[in-house]
Amino acid sequence: MPIPINRQLLLASRPQGEPRPDNFRLVETPVPEPADGQFLVRNHWLSLDPYMRGRMDAVKSYAKYVELGEVMTGGAVGEIVASRHPQYAVGEFVTGAFGWQEYTLSDGTLVRKVDPQRAPLSYALGVLGMPGVTAWVGLLDIAQLKAGETVLVSAASGAVGSVVGQLAKIKGCRAVGIAGGAAKCEYAVTELGFDACVDYKKGALYEDLKTALPEGIDVCFENVGGETLDTALRLMKPFSRIAICGLISQYSATEQYGLRNIRSVLVNRIRMQGFIVSDRPQLWPQALAELAGHVAAGRIKYRESVAKGLEQAPRAFLGMLRGENFGKQLVQLI
Ligand code: NDP
Repeated sequence: MPIPINRQLLLASRPQGEPRPDNFRLVETPVPEPADGQFLVRNHWLSLDPYMRGRMDAVKSYAKYVELGEVMTGGAVGEIVASRHPQYAVGEFVTGAFGWQEYTLSDGTLVRKVDPQRAPLSYALGVLGMPGVTAWVGLLDIAQLKAGETVLVSAASGAVGSVVGQLAKIKGCRAVGIAGGAAKCEYAVTELGFDACVDYKKGALYEDLKTALPEGIDVCFENVGGETLDTALRLMKPFSRIAICGLISQYSATEQYGLRNIRSVLVNRIRMQGFIVSDRPQLWPQALAELAGHVAAGRIKYRESVAKGLEQAPRAFLGMLRGENFGKQLVQLI
């Protein structure tokens, strides 16, 4: 019988600025067998997320970077195909940090079981997984959103931003998005129910935001940083909050954008707080349960961009960092 093969994508070199396909290397290794206390997952879907750009650089951050020659880090969801673990059975579906590979050995650390009958399996990597929980935690726990307030969210059509806007509407708030291009903005308004969405690629961000936000911003859910955040600072209300979720415009920048409007934080007594969703494990069950209810009831809509085959992951990842995705970026492995 032929030995089953595990295809893996390794970090081959570190990018200078924007990553390139040759920063990754595809290798084939034998599929490993579980030892006592382990199980083997065949990954069905791989998640591509902006934070992975940070893991490619050998710098100190909130999580350890990927070593050269190591499998790229990443969330995935798949089926258990062999098990020597008492709590994980063959045929169960699980999600965890399984990496950019087709098969993964796990001992169950930070693994979550997924019921594929409740929602499509891939949702466990998006609206019913880390990005969905990020939206929930950032808006409700970090920014302490209250009914009647006005929320601005950047990268509004994406995995996190789309959920932020819809949660804001569910909470009785006004939701304004920022996205790149007319199609993404139209989707945010007509499909997701945002009150307005500003296309930053038109080049009149401040003027267009001022029109969409005549009374200013109570909560800014920041996914982009740089000029986007700097412009939002000019429109923040007194005692408003900024949840710094991500700074995607800066991840590959060789020089960081300096904020010119930081004075607004002082004069408006703004609370600006960065957060990492994994710091709040105690909130995940409630967030996931509420999000699942909203998705099942049709109150939250969700869109995916799917690349097919592990070998497509580097190009899809680079495309996502440039905004070529429209919704949650995934790689379908099976
Ligand atoms: P998205 O699905 O939103 O995809 C990324 C999007 O970012 C692109 O589609 C693009 O949208 C936008 N973008 C990229 N470059 C720029 C740029 N230079 N200027 C403006 N927009 C840009 O990704 P996610 O929803 O997964 O992530 C959104 C943000 O949330 C990221 O910053 C990420 O790091 C952060 N995050 C933080 C977490 C935390 O725990 N703090 C957890 C998860 C995500 P467009 O075409 O509209 O420009």
